[in-house]
Amino acid sequence: MFGLNVKQAIYAWYQKNGRHDLPWRQTEEAYHIYLSEIMLQQTQVKTVLERFYFPFLERFPTLKSVAEAPLDAVLKMWEGLGYYTRAKNLHHTAITCNGILPRHPEELGGLKGIGKSTAHAICTFAHHEALPILDANVKRVLCRYFALSVKDEKVLWEKAWELLHVKHPYEHNQAMMDIGAMICTPKNPNCLECPLSFTCKGKEAPENYPLPVKKVKVPTKQRVALVILKEGKLGLIQRKERLLHGLWGFMQVDVRPGNAESLGKVTHTYSHFKLELEAVICKDLHVNVDGYFTDDQIAKLALSTVDKKILRLPAMMGNISPTS
Ligand code: SF4
Repeated sequence: MFGLNVKQAIYAWYQKNGRHDLPWRQTEEAYHIYLSEIMLQQTQVKTVLERFYFPFLERFPTLKSVAEAPLDAVLKMWEGLGYYTRAKNLHHTAITCNGILPRHPEELGGLKGIGKSTAHAICTFAHHEALPILDANVKRVLCRYFALSVKDEKVLWEKAWELLHVKHPYEHNQAMMDIGAMICTPKNPNCLECPLSFTCKGKEAPENYPLPVKKVKVPTKQRVALVILKEGKLGLIQRKERLLHGLWGFMQVDVRPGNAESLGKVTHTYSHFKLELEAVICKDLHVNVDGYFTDDQIAKLALSTVDKKILRLPAMMGNISPTS
């Protein structure tokens, strides 16, 4: 149905306009590509590029080095990137495959945190295999190009296969991601500059493909963070619950203890709720924490963003000893 023209147009567009200089496009090292794919799942290219990709590779130059490191060390390098399950899955996968990623897409897709699209991306970008990818940007381009009102995974995979340029899968997949990020953007797509424009079925009303899903307002939770000080050291816990598992932080409770003195409030929005957290210090409160730390020691722990926000409250300044 779709001749080579649109596929050739996508290929030619990538040669001229693609983001060839991204570091994960300058390597065929599967681990580097895998790392970039995982980091980019929920984070923008700019953030990954400027703050996380290179420091992580410097600390963990091989997947084997990830496998050999404790989870705490991996989480520390992920600190601030959010969605920490990604880091835990990366660590788990590194151990499972003993630092060597399998080459087969189905074996890759069976590893924790690697879905079908990520497995295809690794196989295409590292080994030039002819497999389509289906990340959020590509889904949007396909929905518009084929005028699909609903994002149906099965249909989208069929369409992705249909459009794939099997002779140039590397360039095709990179181009589709770039077109989604730079041209066929969620708002105001630039159809005039788009290589798919000639045969695009959705270009008259791109906003209808897919039809917008009503956003559900996330609930707000109000909680209290306990600032526990002992001889100038700060008492922290290592989280055991699913959210932020493995990260260090302040103990949180639902009810403000009596005698509590407020140090200020911080807020943080997670994917499924907004947290309003009041940090309080209370004298004579005996709670079990997992350890007491000085400023220097805290700097070496992996903390979540919300706990870091508490540490930066003006009322916290000068309360914790710098060194032991
Ligand atoms: S022509 Fe417009 S709507 Fe169609 S894929 Fe290109 S940018 Fe998106």
